[in-house]
Amino acid sequence: MIDYHIHLENGPYTLEWLETFWRQAQKRGITEIGITEHCHKFKAFYPMFAPLAEGEGSCQYMRDWIRQDFRQDLEQYIKLLLDARAAGIPVKIGLELDYISGMEAVARRIVAQYPFDFILGSVHVIGKWGFDFAPEVWVGHDVDQAYRDYYTTLERAVDSGLFDIIAHFDLIKIYGHKPSAALMPRLAASIDIILSKMAQKQISLELSSAGWRKPVSEMYPAPAIVMRAAGLGIPVTFASDAHYPEHVGADWELLAAAARECGCREYSVYAGRRRQGVPL
Ligand SMILES: [Zn+2]
Ligand SMILES: [Zn+2]
Repeated sequence: MIDYHIHLENGPYTLEWLETFWRQAQKRGITEIGITEHCHKFKAFYPMFAPLAEGEGSCQYMRDWIRQDFRQDLEQYIKLLLDARAAGIPVKIGLELDYISGMEAVARRIVAQYPFDFILGSVHVIGKWGFDFAPEVWVGHDVDQAYRDYYTTLERAVDSGLFDIIAHFDLIKIYGHKPSAALMPRLAASIDIILSKMAQKQISLELSSAGWRKPVSEMYPAPAIVMRAAGLGIPVTFASDAHYPEHVGADWELLAAAARECGCREYSVYAGRRRQGVPL
């Protein structure tokens, strides 16, 4: 079993810290871990985010965040993961890359310089709105509009060709906001289009237990989406989105059971950005 979504950011970027994640993985029966630090931890990605702190629609919390993050060296992060591998830890070199509309070329240029095994694609930002920062940032936002804009952005992310795996596909539900019944058919149609594109490009769909630890208290994505994806033959990956060692491999048995119930037959492993299917 794999856990392909792990963050080291709450500790030092050292082999000792990484080993605590691997020890927990072994306890949970995980045989391969993918470390996927947020791109915005690294200095190299600052130019991709800087425009979000400027001009119309920029918010104070975005400005504060952009000023504070971007401290690590991407080169050293890659070296740490290569060292871990040399020390015998079965670790894949990943990155959680935000999709920022208009910044595709910047992202592509940085990613191409490093030996990544896979790139996780995430939408945390709609326009200049970081919708998963805190529940308060939803004040003044229309829920239906947020859902429409989220899936429009996610479709662009899939179109961009930047990503091997789409992380937390329905993250917009994080705080439990529900779209109106009237919007549901349109949303379902948008989701179908995105999944068809993922099937065509053989982009994997991440099944994540992190949603169970969030206010929405559901897996990402909802089983109805996983079922539709399975019908289209989209492969999956398994993820905890752990930010601390104790969450590595969290609830993977439940994810695997949900995957089988939804009709998934295969999960993906990656090496050097090439996918290989493993029967579930
Ligand atoms: Zn994320
Ligand atoms: Zn994450």
